[in-house]
Amino acid sequence: MTRQTLSFQAEVAQLLHLVTHSLYSNKEIFLRELISNASDACDKLRFEALNQNDLYEKAPNLDVRVSFDKDAKTLTIADNGIGLSQQEAIDNLGTIAKSGTKDFVSKLSGDQKADAQLIGQFGVGFYSGFIVADKITVESRRAGLPASEGVRWVSGGAGDFEVETIERAQRGTAVILHLREDAADYLNAWKLKGIINKYSDHISLPILMEKEEWKDGAPLPGTSGDENGGTEPGSMVKTGEWETVNQASALWTRPKKDITGEQYTEFYKAISHDFEAPLTWAHNRVEGSTEYTQLLFIPGKAPFDLWNREKAAGIKLYVKRVFIMDEAEALMPTYLRFVKGVIDSADLPLNVSRELLQESRDVKAIRDGSTKRVLSMLEDLARHDKLPQAKEGEVTDVLSDEDKAKAGQYSKFYAEFGAVLKEGLGEDFANRERIAKLLRFASSQSDVVGVSLADYKARMKEGQEAIYYITADTLAAAKNSPQLEVFKKKGIEVLLMTDRVDEWALSHLQDFDGTPLQSVAKGAVDLGKLQDETEKKAAEESAEALKPLLAKLKEALKDKVEDVRVTTRLVDSPACLVVKDYGMSMQMARMLKQAGQTAPDTKPVLEINAEHPLIKKLEGSVNFHDLAHIVFDQALLAEGGLPNDPAAYVKRVNALLV
Ligand code: ADP
Repeated sequence: MTRQTLSFQAEVAQLLHLVTHSLYSNKEIFLRELISNASDACDKLRFEALNQNDLYEKAPNLDVRVSFDKDAKTLTIADNGIGLSQQEAIDNLGTIAKSGTKDFVSKLSGDQKADAQLIGQFGVGFYSGFIVADKITVESRRAGLPASEGVRWVSGGAGDFEVETIERAQRGTAVILHLREDAADYLNAWKLKGIINKYSDHISLPILMEKEEWKDGAPLPGTSGDENGGTEPGSMVKTGEWETVNQASALWTRPKKDITGEQYTEFYKAISHDFEAPLTWAHNRVEGSTEYTQLLFIPGKAPFDLWNREKAAGIKLYVKRVFIMDEAEALMPTYLRFVKGVIDSADLPLNVSRELLQESRDVKAIRDGSTKRVLSMLEDLARHDKLPQAKEGEVTDVLSDEDKAKAGQYSKFYAEFGAVLKEGLGEDFANRERIAKLLRFASSQSDVVGVSLADYKARMKEGQEAIYYITADTLAAAKNSPQLEVFKKKGIEVLLMTDRVDEWALSHLQDFDGTPLQSVAKGAVDLGKLQDETEKKAAEESAEALKPLLAKLKEALKDKVEDVRVTTRLVDSPACLVVKDYGMSMQMARMLKQAGQTAPDTKPVLEINAEHPLIKKLEGSVNFHDLAHIVFDQALLAEGGLPNDPAAYVKRVNALLV
């Protein structure tokens, strides 16, 4: 291959522009990213060599070397890992292959601050080199290829890059950063060691730097040196010897007591690409029928692609410290896909594949154990969410600083991930109870999402037999729904649910702690013992008296409704729509249709308020047919739907207005 100039994929060019312009405040992360790539490359070699030992080319000791050249103003990160073939250099360093990443780039707003936040979640990887370099040279050879098939890749980080074939005896990759003027301070061993210490200490491979020694300056010509200070300034010089500058043991293999909170946090940031610290973590060695170490983190912020259920899980799998795979989805249920961390198994075979993982008993045990661990982390956060209010004269500082630090964390977690957690009701039967306890809602008594089912139960009215809830598109729609009128009148709390998953999720939770959950938009209203006997009787009587009207309405609306009946649930509104007990709510059916899926075409029940003037007027009205349709369409509007034929609705209303 002769020298070729190729263009970056459009998304890469965009990303590069952003990297160089918005990551200024966090420059030093480039070293973490490049060391992390080098370490991944060594992991990959080790993994491929499991089946093909000659890839080691008789040099099995893997390491990462960081070196610099003050005169040339270059900083080099070199590894003897898997390396890149020529084609891989073109593909991997010129395009974005990862799924989801293009979406990510399209989400960038051009607002540097906001974008810098986003980019943090995504991880800029290799391209972060351009934060400090105005040119990057990569020299590489893939393990197993002959020396004549090395590759050199060079780019100034603008629109294009050059690739050419080179001779390269050394396996693996060297990334040579030609530092910008304002990044010259990275040509300093002390500074580099500091950064490696902070960000890369947990890397299990040795990171090596060349040892330096202080050398006194030589005497200036014509002096003996010891008299009038006539020497050149002394300086650090390289000794040619390499020393390991990190701990070189995987963080999770060290005893907990030797790891600081800051080290955990930096480790989390390195594996998650998150700029922010995690909310909490758990680090445990689990022994028993299957042995493994788990280090699991709960992030404080949702990634941009949280809603993609296909999205990779955040767990890295190691077997006896050998990296096996990223995104091991078999190790965590889908509803906990936000959890990041590492699982290191002592029992799985090294050559385990994704398919095998799905079937392994050990994996099932690990998943169950990790799921329980995550739930107990969340329970712990939930317990500490609200600091107890001190009563008069009480000593307040009984709480530890650690407890205080946890206050408000669960609310933060829930705002980001609550809707995902709810999926667990349908997905994880065994832990349904625990998940239900972790749920929080807004209610007719609280706009803030913070009411737990237990809170609700504790506030239930004397004689109340169900936990009532309503699902709607928005909080306003839920709060003002006609279905809530009688509950408001009687002061009965109703949970307001506005997440898309609510209806589906709640359909899996028949009861909580012995109390049934009941949607107020389904079935006939049943307030049980809360129902006023006289009210009930009055309703029955008016139902009897209104029989002819009901029949007439049913006939007029026969294409639209299943039934028409009198209700006690309405106070101010003339009518509302409900679905049958186990039917799909109208809101859910709309949602499915919007998503292009088929929803069953079940018709709702129209319930009317016998006391309402409009209903009273209906009876003898000359334009009964039009009025009936208006009543129906308005009930539909009130619960967030749209009339089938909006123009006809407008026409009818206008006719009345005129
Ligand atoms: P990521 O590492 O998140 O996939 P990067 O932009 O950091 O994204 O790197 C892109 C790809 O380039 C990597 O997936 C890998 O295939 C390749 N790569 C980067 N650095 C190295 C390296 N030191 N050795 C071998 N391949 C590398």
